Amino acid sequence: MDHVLQNRGHKRVESPDSADVIIVNTCAVRLDTEQKIAERLRDIRSKYPRKKLVVAGCLAKARPGLIRRIAPGASLLAPQAAHLVYKPVEGERPVALLRVERNTSYYPPAPMAGRVATVMIQEGCRNKCSYCITKVSRGDPRSYPIRAVVEQVLNAVKRGAVEVRLTGTDTAAYGVDLPGRPSLADLLRAILDKVPGEYRIRVGMMTPEEAMRIADDLLDAYRDSRVYKFFHVPVQSGSDRVLRLMGRRYTVEEFRLLHRRIKSAYPDSLFATDIIVGHPGEGEEDFDETYRLVEELRFERVHLAQYSLRPHTRAASMRQVPDRIKKTRSKALTRLIEKIGGEIYGSYVGRTMTALVVGEAYRGGSALARLDNYFPVVLPGWSPESLGKKVRVRITGASFFDLRGEPAG
Ligand code: SF4
Repeated sequence: MDHVLQNRGHKRVESPDSADVIIVNTCAVRLDTEQKIAERLRDIRSKYPRKKLVVAGCLAKARPGLIRRIAPGASLLAPQAAHLVYKPVEGERPVALLRVERNTSYYPPAPMAGRVATVMIQEGCRNKCSYCITKVSRGDPRSYPIRAVVEQVLNAVKRGAVEVRLTGTDTAAYGVDLPGRPSLADLLRAILDKVPGEYRIRVGMMTPEEAMRIADDLLDAYRDSRVYKFFHVPVQSGSDRVLRLMGRRYTVEEFRLLHRRIKSAYPDSLFATDIIVGHPGEGEEDFDETYRLVEELRFERVHLAQYSLRPHTRAASMRQVPDRIKKTRSKALTRLIEKIGGEIYGSYVGRTMTALVVGEAYRGGSALARLDNYFPVVLPGWSPESLGKKVRVRITGASFFDLRGEPAG
């Protein structure tokens, strides 16, 4: 949106006070996020009742009625219509651009934060999970052609990107809608072949069943040292009964096998997963199975969420698990995740490894480097010249979030 508007001569200002148009980009995944956004919109409407307001993103598409109630007169822009943002900005009347198909032949330059570029390769998934509102806003898979993605990565690397994140709703579903059905592995090979340089690629979230479908080929494409050995595959629950209730299309055993295949190909890889506790119908035994799965597979990273009720989803009409039970389960699992994480991160201390400097660390004055498996290492001292350099580091400390290191010559 920024790129489209700047190209048409608009200017971004620092504060809504000096803006002619206010654009709020939104997320719909969780109820607490929705409440924060609603609060912000109310605030904007009361402070700037006459200013043009554009509400973009997933919440606009999934909850248009809510937005209209909170912010009457606002224009609504679906995620697929981001490139049309100039219409409500320049038009006289509010518009609702909600039923627009993603135009995969239009591709603005990848956004960069520091030297990290984000390249969207597809959106949408082939599922209809019981709890998920993302499906309402993102729909079925729509992929960008290989040629267009390669060009994006090439441009990003030319502009100085040292890390390129390939993102999508389900990256392993890449290409299912394209002629010839190229896979994520084909895309990776094309990028690695056509884009020279010492950059790294991080592949975003993939669903287990799509990852299983392409596993052999994908693990082969990961052999290139420019691909982080990083896999983000949400299991969501360790109970087959709950997975069925969720409408997930794999069993716990199939997930276990996928995890085993990844770990036997890349023992040092970082395997991240997502878990929801307290989905409607989750009993004590189901939760115990999830707990035991985490103990067994010892994921390097777990994103844990308490189930959050979302409208327009099947789970919203199921019998809910009380909040107090969700909290107790979440606390118990958090303790386990932190214990395992501490042991895994602690096992790196004393090792000497190679890492790539990708930016300045959040602790000012330090550098942020990434190991081959994407683990972050904070190094003392920061200079922009070190960006994109490979360094040998000795790991001297670990926290639950990152490793600390020092140059090892
Ligand atoms: S795979 Fe399931 S959880 Fe993920 S976006 Fe699709 S419907 Fe939602």
